[in-house]
Amino acid sequence: MLTEFHDALKDPAAYGKRLKEEGGRKVVGYFCSYTPEEIIYAAGAHPFRLFGAGDGIHLADAHFQSYCCSLVRGALEGALAGRFDFLDGVVFPHTCDSIQRLSDVWRMNVRGHFHLDVVLPVKLNTDSAKAYMTDVLEKFRNDLERKLGTSITEDGLKKAARTFNDIRGSLKRLYELKSENPGIVSGADLYAVVKASMIMDRDRVVRLLPGVVRELEKRRGTGEGEEGKRLVLAGGICNHPDVYRVIEEAGGVVVWDDLCTGSRYFEEVTEGGGSPVADLAGHYLARPVCPAKHSGLYARAERLVEIVKEKRAAGVVFLFLKFCDPHSFDYPYLKKALDEAGIPSMVLEVEDRLPSEGQLTTRFETFVHMI
Ligand code: SF4
Ligand code: SF4
Repeated sequence: MLTEFHDALKDPAAYGKRLKEEGGRKVVGYFCSYTPEEIIYAAGAHPFRLFGAGDGIHLADAHFQSYCCSLVRGALEGALAGRFDFLDGVVFPHTCDSIQRLSDVWRMNVRGHFHLDVVLPVKLNTDSAKAYMTDVLEKFRNDLERKLGTSITEDGLKKAARTFNDIRGSLKRLYELKSENPGIVSGADLYAVVKASMIMDRDRVVRLLPGVVRELEKRRGTGEGEEGKRLVLAGGICNHPDVYRVIEEAGGVVVWDDLCTGSRYFEEVTEGGGSPVADLAGHYLARPVCPAKHSGLYARAERLVEIVKEKRAAGVVFLFLKFCDPHSFDYPYLKKALDEAGIPSMVLEVEDRLPSEGQLTTRFETFVHMI
């Protein structure tokens, strides 16, 4: 059942191209889980999350300092090398500085598709945040209508919210099942499902996921698989499926995460009750905050400690991309909060490629042994 998810990740660009050629749908690339992908879907286009290039970065070095994160440099590399030529447009949300500068460099150097910025509010817990966010999403809706030459209806937005709610609900259920019974699915398989859900045709994903949930429900309580030390993975995005295998081989198991390619993406759904755009605004305000946004001085630390306690985890592994300022700035206070709660943690800073496996195994084994 998982083959389709793994296949999509082998070559996401080939998947996107095929979807466009065979499905006749426009494909809109986007960065970061703060992009309101529901609006892209409601426009009849396919939202396609862009990640790093995954191999050598050369062309992007002419535009970015080497102290930009590998996600941003890798994405530009892919664009300059023509790997994203099939895209009809690209959307840049206003989040970290690196993504904003990527937007500028992309606008000036990459041709062939439209370019949209979505300037979301930074402070999400003020009285005016909801009205601000609603206006921004409304503007994005209008911009997209113009760029794609289509109209985005209220019913289309409602259907989009339902589709993405169903996807998020299934992903959350899969995480819960793994957390209750960690051996029933490998971390790498679960990673593939979540990440592919941001790349694949969402109508297909929403049909596939309930089957995966049902299969894992059947395996509950069978005692299948080995359990290890329960760990939470925290950081920005995870682009490294091998991390899960190395952790498992070192005697640990990831039972939850605080990643934007993980629980921050699916933990909140869109509630109804207002206009579809206002409801979506509510979702993007309520979702677990990432360090490029602000929602109270201690929101992230409180949530992380709560996750560790609720999931009965023994420790936290911070996984950061090198030169990721927002996550590095948050780290000291998160670490302090964990220390005060008596929760051990370790940090792993990675580039597009992981350090050598031997080095990684030793670090994880030492941590698992220590806890
Ligand atoms: S960590 Fe935050 S800013 Fe960075 S990609 Fe994820 S959601 Fe976007
Ligand atoms: S939040 Fe960090 S990892 Fe994500 S794009 Fe920004 S600098 Fe890079």
